[in-house]
Amino acid sequence: MTTIASALLHPTTNLRSAAQSGPLVFAHGKGVRIFDREGRDFIEGLSGLWCTALGHGDEELAEAAARQLRDLSYATLFAGKAHEGALDLADRLVAMAPFDAARVFFGQSGSDANDTQIKLVRHYNNLIGRPGKKKIIALDRGYHGVTIGAASLTGLAGFHREWDLPIPGILRARCPYAYLEAHAGEDEDAFTARLVAELEAMIVAEGPETIAAMIAEPVLGAGGVVIPPRGYFAQVRQVLDRHDILLIADEVITGFGRTGEAFGSQTMGLRPDTMTLAKALSSGYVPISAVLLPQQIYQAFEDASATLGVFAHGYTYSGHPLATAIALKTLDIYRERDIFGQAQRMAPVFARHLQALADHPLIGEARSVGMIGALQIVRDRKTRALYDPADGVGAWCADTAGIRHGVLFRATFDTLCFAPPLVISEAELDEMFARVRAALDDALEWLT
Ligand code: PLP
Repeated sequence: MTTIASALLHPTTNLRSAAQSGPLVFAHGKGVRIFDREGRDFIEGLSGLWCTALGHGDEELAEAAARQLRDLSYATLFAGKAHEGALDLADRLVAMAPFDAARVFFGQSGSDANDTQIKLVRHYNNLIGRPGKKKIIALDRGYHGVTIGAASLTGLAGFHREWDLPIPGILRARCPYAYLEAHAGEDEDAFTARLVAELEAMIVAEGPETIAAMIAEPVLGAGGVVIPPRGYFAQVRQVLDRHDILLIADEVITGFGRTGEAFGSQTMGLRPDTMTLAKALSSGYVPISAVLLPQQIYQAFEDASATLGVFAHGYTYSGHPLATAIALKTLDIYRERDIFGQAQRMAPVFARHLQALADHPLIGEARSVGMIGALQIVRDRKTRALYDPADGVGAWCADTAGIRHGVLFRATFDTLCFAPPLVISEAELDEMFARVRAALDDALEWLT
């Protein structure tokens, strides 16, 4: 029996549970807190969905939005048109990028931006006379979105099962998740060397002439905050270079200070060819995403004008004036208030709180980099055995215990994921983790 609470079809939700419990309905937010319509407060342990880096209700952003809506409500970028905000934001992103970026394509979401990445890689290889070089490698547990292309890149079975996905041409590489994937006695270097050798063996077996690109998050977010070993991306890059394969950095979560530096690629030693940005680009206040490209790829597109005419890819809302105004103001605020510095200063406090919970009977590992971290729930701390996924322990912690104790975070299987707003204070972190501990204690009681 289900109760129909509203006509809303919830995205990424256990629909039966939601129908039975009814939705948690948020009414307003301020800073790191969000309030439901009964006035209960929740600390944003995941910045909404890893996006509201500046927390709720920033007056400067609200003013910028109101001003922009009055000044220029809409303008297209099609057919060579533009507006100041789109031009400025593209230039700002190219100037900030930690690689040789030359051009920026705007979208609305991380998913559509990663679909754009797939299309651009295909288009590029067609245009330079390599029509057979099309496959894309993605990591197991990687999360790249839910549109048909992006969901195919996503390495989580639930996003494929009964959805007729993935599309053909996606290759899967092992997740660089040492805690669960390393063999007994295998240290981090040996683990990295094994994964890199496996990757190269797969490339050789498939035929490098059929593989266009690899996509990876510098730190895998929605797949469970997996922090690859330090040397991993440098070695992956060497393999890709040997086989002329592009590396796409999906910085949708890790971009804009989350790892303590401007981009996760810098923190994790990942040297990308192209980059996907979204979420904190606007602090989650409005939908906007961006794909950053090097000159070499852009040039192929421009040169094709002679034969193809139009570069036939674009959205009605590519570079929407409201979105670019908010993104520009967000970037100003990051600089003026030294938000990335603040993230660096808070990161040790965040790490200390997570490590303090590593001793909890439910937790096998605590890990973090910058202001993104996770607690891995295990059934047996010695053997690292996990609970049966059907037990839903992680989901219970996040969706029942966390809500009961006023802290919001997400569970991927039994990994509890945290990424609070970058503006969170030490006192707020103390309060957040007191609530997380209470939620874990509840879960332990529920289990026994
Ligand atoms: N890429 C990464 C790394 C993400 O974490 C997400 C969303 O969480 C996406 C892509 C998809 O973004 P969106 O939900 O905006 O489509």
